[in-house]
Amino acid sequence: MDELPALAALAYNQEGAAAHEAISGKEIRGIGDVEETVIEGVSRYSYGGIRVYRIPVESFPNHVTNVYLLVGGEPTLVDVGFNSETGRNDLERGFAVVCQGFGERVSLESVSNVVITHGHGDHFGMLEHPRLKGKRLFMSPPDTEVVREYQTEYQEWKQYVAKLAQEAGCQVDLDQLFGHDRLAFDGSDYQLIEVHDQQEIIGSGTVHHTPGHSPGHICLGCGPFLFLGDHLLSLTTPHQVPKSGWGGAGLRVYLDSLAKVARLGYALGLPAHEEVITSIEHRAKEVALFHQQRLAELHYLCRQEKSLYELTRDYYARHPELIQASSIDELVAGDFVLALEEIKAHVEYLLDEGRLLMVGGESGVPRYRSR
Ligand SMILES: [Zn+2]
Repeated sequence: MDELPALAALAYNQEGAAAHEAISGKEIRGIGDVEETVIEGVSRYSYGGIRVYRIPVESFPNHVTNVYLLVGGEPTLVDVGFNSETGRNDLERGFAVVCQGFGERVSLESVSNVVITHGHGDHFGMLEHPRLKGKRLFMSPPDTEVVREYQTEYQEWKQYVAKLAQEAGCQVDLDQLFGHDRLAFDGSDYQLIEVHDQQEIIGSGTVHHTPGHSPGHICLGCGPFLFLGDHLLSLTTPHQVPKSGWGGAGLRVYLDSLAKVARLGYALGLPAHEEVITSIEHRAKEVALFHQQRLAELHYLCRQEKSLYELTRDYYARHPELIQASSIDELVAGDFVLALEEIKAHVEYLLDEGRLLMVGGESGVPRYRSR
């Protein structure tokens, strides 16, 4: 679940209000020195010899992943979406528009590299696609594990969710969670290359390690572009996970990674969902502020001690707009778990800062009180 701070939506609309020029179904606008051209839902961002195509791929119903195709050097895909039937059709149709609409000569087969920003299914699931297998695959550890050992990672994730629910003091029906317990590929189907911060890859790209949303999350810089994965989104605030469940992630490292991308100086942010970001620095500050406000509010709500479940329930009762429901109890199991994780990531931050105290965890259900 990603969340919508209304102020951020407004800010984007103002920034995005560049002049549009419509030419027979083709729309062109300038974003700084970058030219954006849109044909049939596929956007091209060009700067010098670098051309990036954004292909929207519906990974799950109502959940679109932006798959980016970089050409001008070795053809490279950044994130590939999930291998749903719609997603696969979207990807193939997108390549057809890139060729017929924009005049490129590129196919899934001619792509040399696949860069996966992080190990979440809506970013790597399409690796099942037989026409992608055999390529160089760039990812950062520990997120690479989900590609090497998907089945094991999936089982461990379910156990983790069971433990999280128990500790929160509530029930989660594990059978209602994301059900894809196997995927039709493993590490041996690709030339898997583990990448690290500042590494130069694919000829013209620089890896930036941005842990937080996941431990091995990376952004990829190329010319004026920064491929953001889920590190920074234009409208919603990327999901936060507790560091106790995801070693190397958590809110503190996420905020550090936000400050990091704000300093890098790339002109245009290309996120894996939603719209392009014309000021990475500005958007990163908005998202950081959002988390500071949430921390303050959770601290306030813990004047009376609460379990993680109670705190999550009470927080979202004050912010139904963030979950499109009046109570977390109405959410489907997967979203309910995301809500618990989100609040736990903030609770951990407050505990580390000494602003919360953990009390009465003897029953296996810790309770939190502000101090
Ligand atoms: Zn995502």
